[in-house]
Amino acid sequence: MPGGLITRDAYHMLRTRLMDRLAEAMPVDGVLLILHGAMVADGEDDCEGDLLARVRALVGPECPVVSVLDMHGNLTATMVDAADALVAFNKHPHTDAFERGQEAAHLMTRLIDEGIQCTKAHISLPLLLSALTTATDRLPLCAVHEQAQAFRQDPRVANISVMGGFAYTDTAFAGVSVLATTMGDAALAQQIAQTLAAIAWEHREAATYTGIAADEAVRRAVAAPHHPVVLADVGDNVGGGSPGDGTVLLQALMEANAQDAVVVLADPGAVHHALQAGVGATIEMAVGGKHDHWHGERVQVRGRWNA
Ligand SMILES: [Zn+2]
Repeated sequence: MPGGLITRDAYHMLRTRLMDRLAEAMPVDGVLLILHGAMVADGEDDCEGDLLARVRALVGPECPVVSVLDMHGNLTATMVDAADALVAFNKHPHTDAFERGQEAAHLMTRLIDEGIQCTKAHISLPLLLSALTTATDRLPLCAVHEQAQAFRQDPRVANISVMGGFAYTDTAFAGVSVLATTMGDAALAQQIAQTLAAIAWEHREAATYTGIAADEAVRRAVAAPHHPVVLADVGDNVGGGSPGDGTVLLQALMEANAQDAVVVLADPGAVHHALQAGVGATIEMAVGGKHDHWHGERVQVRGRWNA
C-alpha cells in the first residue's frame, strides 16, 4: 500500500530484484513495465526515472522500453528519455488501467515488429493540482483530454498522455505535464504537447479547490431530504495510504447529535475490546485517532453491541 517516503533499503531491495531478474532474462526483445510515476524514496526523488534509466542501460539503445503510468505520476526528463514510450491512464477514477496496458502492449509489438522509432515531446507546467481536482471528467483536465482525443485520430500519433501529477511529493518536478509520442514525427509531437499544455494552463483557475468543513457537511447531510448521505473524509484517504482511523467526521456527527449515522473506522484495538466484552455488553472506550494526530484525536464513545 502507498505511504510516505520509501526507505532507502526498501527501494534498493525492490530495484535489485527487478534488475537481477531482467539480467537473468537477457537477451530480451523488449521491456514492458507497469510503474506509477510518483514514487519517491529516501535519497531518490525520481524512482521511476532511476528504474527506467537502469533498464535502458542494461538492455541497450535498440531494445524497446515501454511503461504504463498512473496519470498521477510526475513526469521527468529522465523517465521520458529512458523509455521509447510512456502510456498513462486517461481516466481518474482509473477505470482504463486494463485498456492502457493493452495499448502499451500493442505499441510494444509494433516497436518490435516494425522497428518504429518513437519521437516524444514533453512539457511540464508550473501547476499543482489537488488530487480532488484531477478528475478527468471535470475541468481543467477534461478540456485537455477532449483535445487529446481529437489528436489521437491521427495515425502518426502513438500515444498522448495527460498527467495530472501528484502534488503531495516534495520534489522539483511535481505537477501537471503532457507527453505526446508520435511514430517519428517530431514536429507533430511538439505541436500536440504545446497545444495541450496551453489548454491546461488556460483552465488553471478551475483547479482551485474549495472544500466543505466537516461541521457544514454534517449539517447539510442531516438536513438532506433523501437518505442515506455518504460523507467521505478525503483527508484520510486509505487508497492513498492513510490509516483510516480519522475521527473528524465522527466528532462532527456527535457534536451535531446526528441520529442513525454509521461511521467506519479502522481500529483493530477497539474491535478486540468489543469482542472481549461480548454481545449485549455496554462498552466505553476511545476509538480512532490512534495512528497519528493529523486525522483527529481519539473520541470517547459509549455504546452497546446489539446482536
Ligand atoms: Zn492515480
